[in-house]
Amino acid sequence: MHKTEVAIIGAGLSGLVAAICLEKAGCTPVVYEAGNEVGGRVRTDEVDGIPLDHGFQVLLTDYPLTRKYLDYEKLELRRFLPGAILFQNGKKGAIGDPLRNTSFLLPTLFSNAAGLMDKWRIFRLSSDLKKKELRTIFSGVEETTLQYLEKYGFSDRVIARFFKPFFSGIFLEDELSTSSKMFRFVYKMFASGDAAIPKKGMQEIPKQLFGSLQHTKFHFNTRIHRIDGKTLYLDEDKSVAYDYVIIATDPTPLLQELKPSPVRWHSTQTLYFKCAKSTIGKPIIGLVGGGETLVNNIHYVTDLLSAKHPEAVLSVTIVKSHTLTDAALEKQVRKELLEECGIDGLTFLRSYKIAKALPNLQSPTYDSRIIKYSDSIFLAGDHLANGSINAAMRSGELAAQTLLEEVKTTR
Ligand SMILES: Cc1cc2nc3c(=O)[nH]c(=O)nc-3n(C[C@H](O)[C@H](O)[C@H](O)COP(=O)(O)OP(=O)(O)OC[C@H]3O[C@@H](n4cnc5c(N)ncnc54)[C@H](O)[C@@H]3O)c2cc1C
Repeated sequence: MHKTEVAIIGAGLSGLVAAICLEKAGCTPVVYEAGNEVGGRVRTDEVDGIPLDHGFQVLLTDYPLTRKYLDYEKLELRRFLPGAILFQNGKKGAIGDPLRNTSFLLPTLFSNAAGLMDKWRIFRLSSDLKKKELRTIFSGVEETTLQYLEKYGFSDRVIARFFKPFFSGIFLEDELSTSSKMFRFVYKMFASGDAAIPKKGMQEIPKQLFGSLQHTKFHFNTRIHRIDGKTLYLDEDKSVAYDYVIIATDPTPLLQELKPSPVRWHSTQTLYFKCAKSTIGKPIIGLVGGGETLVNNIHYVTDLLSAKHPEAVLSVTIVKSHTLTDAALEKQVRKELLEECGIDGLTFLRSYKIAKALPNLQSPTYDSRIIKYSDSIFLAGDHLANGSINAAMRSGELAAQTLLEEVKTTR
């Protein structure tokens, strides 16, 4: 019998999970990847033994899909403490979940970033959301995160000093205009699990998925330019035909009909610096400037790795859009780090500008909104549901499952 030929475009998390599901069903998919390795938006460089991720991102350990497909132990996850240090005008305070880490009890109680009622609401929201099913969280009315927080009764002070800086760094926009569904999803994941990074950096996640594939063929440095029915065009003269195609990336450049409605994106930039010593001394995220600065958050990569390193490495993330040159940005970042956090003596290491970091979605969903594009083309990618590792992996799983159903019904 003719073996079903399946092509996957993209070796990001969604494409890799699609390949895993297809392999499990006996297929031998062929993956076309424009880049030179797996990972897509999850990439890491190693510099002097320190992993530098292309943009600060974390794995939330309670994501259902990462729990299903990843071996956390082999990733040697390094976990952040469940809280944040708030830096403003050279002063610092801490806020966190004392139920998960008792060292946060006193700083949180005495933090002036939030009133007593705010602190009580923070715990009530955690316990409310812990009880909610993920799909319930994504149903209901559409409103922004800011509207939701105000309706929940949070004060302007805690919104400005904690929620805005913390969630700006996650949503990669600084107005809390992201859907409250996404806010509740992320808050629930933070409340029930940890934020973590593999010891060797985030790219260990796609590398582990890649390592579990045995029969899938990969063509790296191979961009697909156009798709016509079942035919993929590597360039205008070279084409190859398949029974089915999974497009595991934004499909708008590939399918003529979609061109008028391209995906919109949030961007970000992460700068890395070396310095003699960490000024924090523990694996925790620092929120900078209460929303007034270009720098949104910092953490010491070396504090997270927790091994002895001769020098500390600081990760600095920018969310606000700006028009500064690289040199002017570095100067501004140094100024803000000194004024807000008292951090000085930095040597610039690297900077990563990610123009298309997270899809800017009006109404995020848990599962992909569209899976089957035509009888032979299936879609995957976080842009179909919500900008997260969980959504990317779920979309790959759904695309493969739907394709396999289609194969069954047409046999
Ligand atoms: C800076 C940053 C911070 C983030 N923070 C978090 C976070 O903290 N937590 C979280 O859960 N998520 C976070 N994310 C989101 C998460 O990384 C993404 O949701 C996920 O990686 C998307 O995977 P994907 O497979 O959908 O797409 P991608 O990773 O974009 O993969 C698509 C792949 O397709 C390839 N490709 C594209 N076009 C073609 C073509 N024509 N031919 C061949 N190949 C092609 C690309 O090269 C790429 O490898 C962050 C992302 C970024 C960039």
